[in-house]
Amino acid sequence: MRPEILFKLFTPSKELPGVGPRITALLTNLAGAHIGDLLWVLPNNFIDRRFCPLIGEAPNGKICTFIVTVIEHIPSPTRKRPYRVICSDDSGLLEIVYFNARKDYLQEILPINDKRIISGKVDVFNGRVQVMHPDHVVKEEDKASILTLEPVYPLTQGLTGKVLRRCIHDALKLTPNLPEWLDPNLVKQKQWMSWIDSLRAVHSPKTHGELIPTSNNRARLAYDELLANQLALAMIRRHQKKRKGRSIIGSGALKKIINKKLSFALTPNQLEVLEEINNDFRTKNRMLRLLQGDVGSGKTIVAFYSILTAIEAGFQTALMAPTEILAKQHFQTLQPLAKATNIKIDILTGKMGSKERNQIISNTKSGSTQLLIGTHALFQDDVVFKNLGFAVVDEQHKFGVHQRLALSNKGDGVDMLIMTATPIPRTLSMTAYGDLDVSILRERLPGRKAVITRAVSNERLQEVVEGISRAINSGKKAYWVCPLIEISDKLDLAAAEERFQHLNSIFTDRVALIHGRMKDIEKDRIMDSFRAGKVDILVATSVIEVGVDVPDATIMVIEHAERFGLAQLHQLRGRVGRGLEQSTCLLLYSAPLSENARARINVLRESEDGFIIAEEDLKLRGAGEVLGIKQSGLPHFKIADLTFHSDLLELARNEAKLILNKDPDLISNRGEALKILLYLFERDNAVQYLKSG
Ligand code: ADP
Ligand code: MG
Repeated sequence: MRPEILFKLFTPSKELPGVGPRITALLTNLAGAHIGDLLWVLPNNFIDRRFCPLIGEAPNGKICTFIVTVIEHIPSPTRKRPYRVICSDDSGLLEIVYFNARKDYLQEILPINDKRIISGKVDVFNGRVQVMHPDHVVKEEDKASILTLEPVYPLTQGLTGKVLRRCIHDALKLTPNLPEWLDPNLVKQKQWMSWIDSLRAVHSPKTHGELIPTSNNRARLAYDELLANQLALAMIRRHQKKRKGRSIIGSGALKKIINKKLSFALTPNQLEVLEEINNDFRTKNRMLRLLQGDVGSGKTIVAFYSILTAIEAGFQTALMAPTEILAKQHFQTLQPLAKATNIKIDILTGKMGSKERNQIISNTKSGSTQLLIGTHALFQDDVVFKNLGFAVVDEQHKFGVHQRLALSNKGDGVDMLIMTATPIPRTLSMTAYGDLDVSILRERLPGRKAVITRAVSNERLQEVVEGISRAINSGKKAYWVCPLIEISDKLDLAAAEERFQHLNSIFTDRVALIHGRMKDIEKDRIMDSFRAGKVDILVATSVIEVGVDVPDATIMVIEHAERFGLAQLHQLRGRVGRGLEQSTCLLLYSAPLSENARARINVLRESEDGFIIAEEDLKLRGAGEVLGIKQSGLPHFKIADLTFHSDLLELARNEAKLILNKDPDLISNRGEALKILLYLFERDNAVQYLKSG
C-alpha cells in the first residue's frame, strides 16, 4: 500500500485549481496523469523580472517591470489595428499594446486611474515606450510575486507557459516534506539539501549554472531516482536468489554428440561464456544471467549447449522468443540438433489449434518435452512443467522484468539465461538489468568478414539500382530498408510501397515487400520466399524483425539513413554479414547532412562493434533516446540522465547493496523512508518482496 504521505502526489492533476479537462489532457501528455508528475517537469531557463526602471529610462529589448498609473484606453480603430492602453509614471508614458483583445477584459484588469504592475519585454522606437502583450499585469500589492526570477518551462503545444508554471507551482505547494532516505554522510559530503528544498530550488533557478543536469540540486534529485531504481533491482535480485536453485551438473553425453554434429568449433569467447554459465549451474544459487552479443555472434548455440547440460542433468528446459517468427526460427535451427541427440523438443505459440496445443501442454506437464520453445504463450497459466530447471529468454528487451518473473515462477528456483542482441552500454544495462550477471560475446565468428559500409548520396540512386542489378544477376540477395518517417508508420509504409513499385518495375517479380502491419502468416510466407530465393530483393519498413536470419543475404540498402538512430542502423546492418560471403551495407542519405547525422554515419563506417556503437549512441543522443527506450522496456527516467549521471548510478548501485545488507526488509527508520522513495518513483513491484511489504 502506498504510504499516506504520498497520496497528494498521486492525485489526478485535474484536482488542481483551475485545471479542466483540456489542460488535464495536456498535462497528462506532457508529464503524466498525477499531480506529482508535474514535479519532474524542470525549467530550462528563467526570466529576471527584478529590473524596475522608470519608463523614461527603459532600455529597448529588455524585460522590465514597471509601476504605472493607467491613464487611457484607446480601443482598436479597426480589426487589424491594436488596442492600446496608455499608462504613466513620473518619467513618461508607456503604451501597452494588445492585438485581438477583449475590451471588457482589458478594462477590468487595467482600470483607469488605478496603479498596476506591468512586466514584459520593452520596445522603444521614436521615443515611444511600448510593451506588447505584457507577461504580467497585477495589482500593486502583488508586486512581490512578480519581482523575482521566473522559471521558464519547456513549451508544449497548447499549454501556455503561464498555465504550466501555475500548475507546477500549485503542485509544489501540495508537495509534503518527505523523510530523508539518503545516507546523512553522503548528503553532507555532496552538500546536498533535503529533498523538498532541492525540489523547490530546481524550480526557482537563480543562475544558469543551476539549469544543467549536473548542478547540485538536480544531481540530488537524479540520485534519488537512481537509488530507487537500483534499490528496486537489488530487491528483486535478492528475492530471486533467495529462492534456492538446484545444482545442475551435466554428464557431457549430449554435448559430445553435438560437438561431432556441428561443422564448427566453439570460439574461445563462446567457451568462456559457457564456463560462466556452468559455474552458475553448479552452485545452488539461482542463475540470473544476461548474455549480450550482436545478432549473429553465436548466442543461440551457446544457449543450446547450456540447455543440453540441463537436460543431461534431468531437467526440462524452455526457450522463449519475443515473436512467432523468431520462435519458429529457433525451432527450425535446433530441431536437427535435437534429433541427433534424441531429445524431445516442442514448440508452443499463441496461434496454434487447440488440439495441437493440448498435446504439447500435456507433453510439457508429463515431462516428456525436454525443450519447449515458444512465445509469450509460455507464460499462460495452463502451461505447467513437471520439472523446469532452466529457461532461456531471447531478446529480453522486448519483455519486462515481470514477464521474466512469470516464466521463472513456472519452476522451483529456475535458472535463467536472458539473451539480448542489443548491445547496451554498461551504464544503461545497470539500470535495466542491475539484477543480472552479465556475459558478453564480442568476437567476430571465424570466417566472417567485416561488412563494407558506404555512405552514398541519394542523388546516386540510379547507380545504386544498377549495382543491385549486377549483384542479383550474380545470385545475391538484398534488403532494401525504407526511410523511417517519424510521424506515423502509415507514412513509413507509403514510402516502402512506393519504393517497392519502383524496384518492381525494374526487377519484375523479383521484389517483395514486408512490413509490420502484415499478418504473421503473410510475413512468414514472404520471408520464406526470400530465404528460398524466389525473390531477390526484400523491401522493408524499418520494422523488419529483430533476428531475422537469411545468411546468404549480402546487401543492405538503407534509405534516408540520416533519419535512423545509430543503434537502429547497427541492427539493420546486422542482417547481412552473416554468412561467409563478403557483405555490403549502403547508407543512402539526402544531403546536406546535419553534423549529428554525419557523426552517426561515420561511427557506423568505422566500427562494427555493437558496444562501441552503443556508447557512441549514448553520447550523441542522450540516454533517453538510445534504443528507442519506450519500446524497449528499459526504464525511462524522469529526471536522471545517464549521459550526465553515470557516476551517480555507480554510487546508487553500491549504496543499494549496502542498504539491503544492513536492513534487508527496510524496517529501520531510514528503511521506512526508502520505502517512500520506492513508492515515489513507482517501484511498487519491488516493495512486495519485503517482509514488511
Ligand atoms: P545469435 O543467436 O547470436 O544471433 P547464432 O547463434 O544464431 O547467433 O549464430 C549465427 C550463425 O553462426 C549460426 O548459423 C551459427 O550456426 C553460426 N555459428 C555459431 N557459432 C559459431 C562458431 N563458433 N563458428 C562458426 N559458426 C558459428
Ligand atoms: Mg538469435
